Amino acid sequence: MTRSAFAHVDGVLHAERVSAVSLAERFGTPLYVYSRAALTDAWQAYAGACAGRRASVHVAVKANSNLAVLNVFARMNAGFDIVSGGELARVLAAGGKAENTVFSGVGKSAAEMRDALVAGVKCFNVESIPELDRLNEVAGSIGKRAPVSLRVNPDVDAKTHPYISTGLKSNKFGVAFDDARATYRAAAAMRHLEVIGIDCHIGSQITEVAPYLDAVDRLLELVAQIEADGATVRHIDVGGGLGITYDNETPPDIGVFVRTVLDRIDARGHGHREVYFEPGRSLVGNAGILLTRVEFLKPGAEKNFVIVDAAMNDLARPAMYEAYHAIEPVVMRSAPQQVYDVVGPVCESGDWLGRDRALAVEPGDLLAVRSAGAYGFVMSSNYNTRPRAAEVMVDGDKVHLVRAREDVQQLFAGEARLPD
Ligand SMILES: *Cc1c(COP(=O)(O)O)cnc(C)c1O
Repeated sequence: MTRSAFAHVDGVLHAERVSAVSLAERFGTPLYVYSRAALTDAWQAYAGACAGRRASVHVAVKANSNLAVLNVFARMNAGFDIVSGGELARVLAAGGKAENTVFSGVGKSAAEMRDALVAGVKCFNVESIPELDRLNEVAGSIGKRAPVSLRVNPDVDAKTHPYISTGLKSNKFGVAFDDARATYRAAAAMRHLEVIGIDCHIGSQITEVAPYLDAVDRLLELVAQIEADGATVRHIDVGGGLGITYDNETPPDIGVFVRTVLDRIDARGHGHREVYFEPGRSLVGNAGILLTRVEFLKPGAEKNFVIVDAAMNDLARPAMYEAYHAIEPVVMRSAPQQVYDVVGPVCESGDWLGRDRALAVEPGDLLAVRSAGAYGFVMSSNYNTRPRAAEVMVDGDKVHLVRAREDVQQLFAGEARLPD
């Protein structure tokens, strides 16, 4: 996907046609910067590959839930994949439609189910019998039938980081493959549920197509059994998880990935069913960067540190998954490089953004942390009472502030001292 939305022009990093230096000066740092063109290109890679096929794409909201980002997709008639009632509210506020939204997640509350039923979501992706029972009861209490799919755990190895692999037997997600047929029978017997599909989601940052084809084959085995038992499977939802290039990974091109999956389903004689995709990272990951300013250089006995004004509370992925993000100077210097760990001001040794990076930097310089559009701002916190960063969207030579920087007063506005 488009990394070229962020490129150096005459030695200065630009977001589309806007200099990152001017963005940092105008909005301060740390600052998330998104490119509308990059979001649009990634969406069109999916939509283009689905054109003329029975397939639809649901943007996984949890990867980046900023209203402007969701609105860019909603304007292109995207569907959405949500994992909470809060995300449903965001989709609706961003101009998305409930009838194009699927509701995933392992622990939906009765209140979330009720709100989603009233809004009219397209499908509930259910993960257990107790969840089926609860949904049946909630639907009955408001006189509705809930459309359901079961998230089946196909027990395939997506060969990714253990924290982001979700399709193995040992994961908390999905109905075990061996229990799936019986669980479908249970669902079909519930009066206020209507079985309409089957789904899976095997992990994240997957850089090969093969695990998807294995998962599809497993799901199709079940589809025959489910229909033999009398239910109808109108759609097959293959989940999200396609990887992006952070460093030197070589994930399949989005179009190739989509067509390979659709062709497999066709070839197995299931081309009459609709296929759903639920991409998150591959739509937004390389459409965003995090700008940060160097506070200090701190030479050490074993390591040299660049201390920047962004921290693990702004971008948790390195601390949480030891994830790699490319880090580069916004303005290139010709001075010799040194090797540094790039770290934030938070009081944790886990507070780092990059390790062993060759950089030519001085205090006050701006750095760009690349590929920060997915699981970046959405995972940020107020740890150390740090206000969360601002977010801007660049569109050609225009810039829109799409989330104001928090101020400290906001952070404890809901708190109270004890009475005197
Ligand atoms: C997180 C998630 C996705 C999106 O995953 P990516 O790796 O960001 O593509 C899709 N579907 C479900 C059910 C998810 O939990």
